[in-house]
Amino acid sequence: MKDNILSALKEKISRQNWESWFLDFNVKKIEDKHVVFEVGNIFIKDRLEQKFSKIISKVVKEVLGKDATFEIVYKEIDITQKNEEKGPLVRKRPLLITPLNPKYTFENFVVGNFNRFAYNVFLEASKKPGYYNPIFLYSGVGLGKTHLAQALGNYLLENDPDLKVAYLTSEDFMNEMFYAIKNGTTEEFREKYRKKADILIIDDIQFLIGIKSAQVELFHTFNAIHEAGKQIIICSDRTPQELKDFHSRMISRFQMGLLVKIENPTKEDLFKIGKKISKLKGVEINDEIIDYISSIYDNPRLIHGAILKLIAYKNLYGSLNLSIAQSILTNPSKPPKALEEKLIEILSDIFECSPEEILSSKRTKNISYARKVGMYYAAKKLNLSTRDVGKVFNKSHSSVVQNINQVEKLIKEGNIIIKNYLKQIDKATKNFAQGE
Ligand code: ADP
Ligand code: MG
Repeated sequence: MKDNILSALKEKISRQNWESWFLDFNVKKIEDKHVVFEVGNIFIKDRLEQKFSKIISKVVKEVLGKDATFEIVYKEIDITQKNEEKGPLVRKRPLLITPLNPKYTFENFVVGNFNRFAYNVFLEASKKPGYYNPIFLYSGVGLGKTHLAQALGNYLLENDPDLKVAYLTSEDFMNEMFYAIKNGTTEEFREKYRKKADILIIDDIQFLIGIKSAQVELFHTFNAIHEAGKQIIICSDRTPQELKDFHSRMISRFQMGLLVKIENPTKEDLFKIGKKISKLKGVEINDEIIDYISSIYDNPRLIHGAILKLIAYKNLYGSLNLSIAQSILTNPSKPPKALEEKLIEILSDIFECSPEEILSSKRTKNISYARKVGMYYAAKKLNLSTRDVGKVFNKSHSSVVQNINQVEKLIKEGNIIIKNYLKQIDKATKNFAQGE
């Protein structure tokens, strides 16, 4: 009966909505004609009640009869507990507010003098949460704060699955707070962070500059967590004193723990990071090129971006050398000419139209199809930014985004024609690379 209800419901809800809101949704029990649904996240519960109660009610009545009723309850979920009777429909989730990036681990983090102290503190904290408390991590942009904070989260999730790790940016925190105020669920909101989280990581605290109400809320959350001896970690792009309009009592809270700074990496550090990133991406880039990258960029984020660009080029042409890398990277806003021309040429072959037509505003079916699929390919397979795709195709940014979304939707719907076209483009680019 439980499965009947869930599958009847699944039929009535779009796949996208199902994946966003129902993965955690479960029938807890059926008492006579009353169904108790259970969900592991208080905000999803609110959302389901607001947006989907009509449809849920309808399904419940269809399956159990006219006078059937339902309610949704919130249940904290323990990820160690496996639930065998429910099929793959239900996925258990811990209290993870923002999903962590699984690539942000300690293993993938390169350690040098510039970040060794921070690394050691975070590693230690992940073994003894609450020992250094709070931890205030700060540095310029792109130097690894988010990576390190999430590495701690990932480590704890793996090694201590009972702990509830909440990672979120201060902006997420603020949005959730406003949402709770608007919907009269501030109690649940407070409870979620003040009582349920064992580790609270707030990233990019500087977003709250100028937003007093969120600062105050965070202050109380901070105190509750800290008093309970639970770990709190704050990441910031500046020191506590530099968080201009934060109340002094808040600044002094930040200062009472461990202040940790990531310094600027040397060129050698950046080189090692570049090697690591390309290794993780599974693409060999020779040392000469990585050496060049680490001499022109001064932080890991830029190194990461440069490597993605080079990988895109290498995937297309099958080869890469220093002078190509230099030409791609010294003019970062503009993709290399050869790449533009080649893609448009390939599209014109496949879709039987001229390159000029693809770049024109003609709306003939095959031409607009060529454009759409080409834009998608450039963005998703060649990793070009949507602005660069606009330049390549001579189209506005919004039209690029629109076209890419359309293709994404078609792919999601299982459109075979699109998939075939993408395969053909892939094949043509490989042939081209081999023929070089
Ligand atoms: P921040 O939060 O300080 O702005 P991020 O943590 O987002 O910086 O780091 C930017 C990028 O650089 C990420 O892709 C991250 O994985 C990578 N990165 C930063 N520091 C390192 C490091 N020490 N080793 C490997 N990759 C790093
Ligand atoms: Mg960050």
